[in-house]
Amino acid sequence: MASSTIISNTANLEKYLKLPQGGKITAEYVWIDGSNGVRSKSRTLSKKVTSVKDLPEWNFDGSSTGQAPGDNSDVYLRPVAFYPDPLRLGDNILVMCETWMADGSPNTYNFRHDAAELFNKYQSEHDFWFGLEQEYTMLGFDGWPYGWPKDGFPAPQGPYYCGVGTGKVFCRDIVDAHYKACLYAGINISGTNAEVMPAQWEYQVGPCSGIDLGDQLWMSRFLLHRVAEEFGVKVTFAPKPIPGDWNGAGLHTNVSTNETRGENGMKAIEAAMEKLSQRQAEHMSVYGEDNQARMTGKHETASYDKFTWGVANRGSSVRIPRAVAAEGKGYFEDRRPASNADPYQITGIIVETMCGKIEG
Ligand code: ADP
Ligand code: MN
Ligand code: MN
Ligand code: MN
Ligand code: MN
Repeated sequence: MASSTIISNTANLEKYLKLPQGGKITAEYVWIDGSNGVRSKSRTLSKKVTSVKDLPEWNFDGSSTGQAPGDNSDVYLRPVAFYPDPLRLGDNILVMCETWMADGSPNTYNFRHDAAELFNKYQSEHDFWFGLEQEYTMLGFDGWPYGWPKDGFPAPQGPYYCGVGTGKVFCRDIVDAHYKACLYAGINISGTNAEVMPAQWEYQVGPCSGIDLGDQLWMSRFLLHRVAEEFGVKVTFAPKPIPGDWNGAGLHTNVSTNETRGENGMKAIEAAMEKLSQRQAEHMSVYGEDNQARMTGKHETASYDKFTWGVANRGSSVRIPRAVAAEGKGYFEDRRPASNADPYQITGIIVETMCGKIEG
């Protein structure tokens, strides 16, 4: 990939990555900040970690991330999951964290906490599985889609989706690097494809059970930003990065339970549709910022305000895959979430709508 703005020298770095660490390991603590992004910092631990219980709590300056006021700025990091680190290799790890305040309450942006309560209550009975299709767009240093003519536009959409060949796809090197990095980390990445808008891509994470989906998807986003950083490319999860006749970016959410996967699963799916139809506004309120700009009813989206569902219909809020309808059981695809939505909030509200609110 040609770029005059590559700012790291990964070939030189290689030499240092191979150096022994004297038995110590590095833990990269990752958390979600106050603007829907990820932040991270590193610490050294004295030995290899085998359980999340071995990971110490930590803290950061929340006033520097929009997560706490300056006069009470300590925000605590509580490890919830860890993964082999594909960037530093060896026994080094990446650590997904929840954010907590000094008074014992979850941080405003800790959406995992509420989702975890829902899963604690309902997961063992219903065994929710989720598979999310994360779409995103690569941008150059100037913020314009990567590979697009400077101050101009490429030829209209058509040749780019699942495209092959120069001028049809951009940054495949980053996509493949990220794919391998996720596999190494043990993230259940299930595939990738080039999208309809040039410089837009998708990867899928799942099926994952319960809260794991949110943990894994956030870590996959961290890895995407981190890998792209080494190539001098920006990643945006904006739902409609370019206005006009260019596809937006979504986070299609595939859902199943014991009941939908079992005998007469279609009955359980139909019951879920009835419940989802009652809470359109509640779902849209957590399905991503600027999602109105994406959900125009064009470009394979549905109306922002009205819930619809149908078999094989990519213009409805929820699509039942043709094969699922034919088999009479399986999963459904909620096509409403935007690419920048929080997977803890998405999976949480789906459980809440299908199973009921937790009071108090
Ligand atoms: P699309 O045809 O909408 O582009 P994809 O192949 O991109 O579909 O993504 C389908 C997603 O559905 C994958 O992430 C996969 O893991 C997920 N999936 C498949 N079966 C199930 C299931 N039973 N429950 C939940 N998710 C599932
Ligand atoms: Mn300092
Ligand atoms: Mn897909
Ligand atoms: Mn897609
Ligand atoms: Mn889809």
